Amino acid sequence: MKTYKIATIPGDGIGKEVVPAGQQVLEAVGAGSGLRFEFQNFDWGGDYFREHGVMMPDDGLDALREHDAILFGSAGDPHIPDHVTLWGLRLKICQGFDQYANVRPTRILPGIDAPLKRCGPDDLNWVIVRENSEGEYSGVGGRVHQGHPIEAATDVSMMTRAGVERIMRFAFRLAQSRPRKLLTVITKSNAQRHAMVMWDEIAVQISREFPDVTWDKELVDASTARMINRPASLDTIVATNLHADILSDLAAALAGSLGIAPTGNIDPERRYPSMFEPIHGSAFDIMGQGLANPVGTFWSVVMLLEHLGENEAAGRVMQAIEKVTADTSLHTRDLGGTATTADVTRAVCALVSGGV
Ligand code: ATP
Ligand code: MG
Repeated sequence: MKTYKIATIPGDGIGKEVVPAGQQVLEAVGAGSGLRFEFQNFDWGGDYFREHGVMMPDDGLDALREHDAILFGSAGDPHIPDHVTLWGLRLKICQGFDQYANVRPTRILPGIDAPLKRCGPDDLNWVIVRENSEGEYSGVGGRVHQGHPIEAATDVSMMTRAGVERIMRFAFRLAQSRPRKLLTVITKSNAQRHAMVMWDEIAVQISREFPDVTWDKELVDASTARMINRPASLDTIVATNLHADILSDLAAALAGSLGIAPTGNIDPERRYPSMFEPIHGSAFDIMGQGLANPVGTFWSVVMLLEHLGENEAAGRVMQAIEKVTADTSLHTRDLGGTATTADVTRAVCALVSGGV
């Protein structure tokens, strides 16, 4: 029996509800597919911070390294500054394991009442590739003369040729693997005339390696309107760290709910474990009440299985998710329903273990 070692990091808030639900789905699909998952849970996050003064231990990456993949919940605690929780845990793992490609599929699942009424399910089928290691979130910058009238601060968007080349190549390759072979490169080189111009030039250079991929360039501001007015004109999208961060939240909302959307932080070279997580945050307003929609985590489990090469198992979980979203009696409150996290989890587990 094939065995995979999975690290689970529920983190904070509803992460503690959706990650155990995701674990149950992995166990259920494993039982039906002859796969075994060995889980190791890490209780890092806000509570750990209160006790130890750090979000995760210094040797935390070493503990994760031997795993095949990581299933992450959410980091964020209303009593700890956001940049502390983010940099202290999620970004520490993303950067430590050089998970430079952040991949966010977006689709309107069956039964979901999405806001674009004139848009059919086939008109919105995107994958957003976010540069996940540098750019606007490189951490380069500084603050001087704090509290004085001449105070100044910078956040430098640092892009390296190697960093841009690898994310462009990843995006072109992903576009090539999808039926439409279509890529849109998001830019802002009209206003940002150094790094973004290099970004554009590298897109042209890498495109020559993929003559069968049709691609175009779009300004980030214009792309928000295009996502709403002409969603079917987009398929694979590649953007910088900040641009894709914003566009993928818009994409998730257009697909119906933040609670559904998944993401993978991928090390395409497979030197380190990749990390899969729902895109929503810790949502303290609904925690502990069984209101969290676990579908974003289940879809992240699909991505995790695909990354492990377990496409049959991934397909079974995706089919189960679509059956469950198609049934409005299994919608959680964010989708206008009354089902609980446990109801949805039970239904998906029953479908994956019984064969869909
Ligand atoms: P963070 O600070 O970690 O980003 P947050 O509290 O801002 O967390 P978000 O994920 O940004 O939470 O979500 C905003 C709101 O959307 C939440 O407060 C919650 O009401 C709702 N929401 C988010 N995820 C889910 C989910 N999985 N199921 C149900 N509702 C959700
Ligand atoms: Mg938030």
